[in-house]
Amino acid sequence: MKFTLVGTGSVKGCPVYGCDCPACIRAVMDPFLARRPASATLESDGEVILIDAGLTDIEERFPPGSLKHIMLTHYHMDHIVGLFSLRWGSGLRISVTGPDTSDAPAELLKHSGILDFSRTVSPFAPFTVNGVRVTPVPLSHSRPTMGYAFHRNGRTLAYLTDTLGLPVETLHFFAGNPVNVMIIDCSYAPDMTDAPGAHNSLNDVLELHQRIQPSRTILTHIGHELDNWMNTNPLPKDIEAGHDGLVITL
Ligand SMILES: [Zn+2]
Ligand SMILES: [Zn+2]
Ligand SMILES: [Zn+2]
Repeated sequence: MKFTLVGTGSVKGCPVYGCDCPACIRAVMDPFLARRPASATLESDGEVILIDAGLTDIEERFPPGSLKHIMLTHYHMDHIVGLFSLRWGSGLRISVTGPDTSDAPAELLKHSGILDFSRTVSPFAPFTVNGVRVTPVPLSHSRPTMGYAFHRNGRTLAYLTDTLGLPVETLHFFAGNPVNVMIIDCSYAPDMTDAPGAHNSLNDVLELHQRIQPSRTILTHIGHELDNWMNTNPLPKDIEAGHDGLVITL
């Protein structure tokens, strides 16, 4: 099972349009440092699943027929905006699995085109896709949001964005299901006292890392303030920043 972080940016991404902070200037000069909307791919048994659809160039990245399944964490625009153009494809069918669609934009459901929203996921109700067992786990965000624990070869990778902390039932689940690799929302630097809620800062991630104790914690949904902070401060042991294109094999 190959898991790739396609995008690791916060809702603003990096570079932020018009921003002249050091992180954004560096990302303009070196596209390798840019952060696209938080998203990932899961490849197994010769199939690819896209996790979240905030990219606006899905059609260019995935040739027709190569993408049959998208999993969504929630229906904020930075996780679904790419669906609005993708839906007008022709002769294709793409299954879109995610939380209850009552929270999805009515426009997207009314004119769903090639997208099939008929399958939704329920908390802690596991399912298998392309040979990978998946457990949806509720997150703590400003609207209903699901993280996913992927189990393969006796190991577990947890993809947890967007969230601020974790609900107690999700912490209980991980107490009984050890996590090897945790990929988690870390939008804010630890010194951002005025950060809006619903996303982790590095301090929040540290608490979760100590509680869940994965062997590897990888940050995603990273804002440019955190990039600037990381430019002059080392990350704690066993915690690393994700970057667009990072591959994890399980
Ligand atoms: Zn987001
Ligand atoms: Zn900036
Ligand atoms: Zn969100």
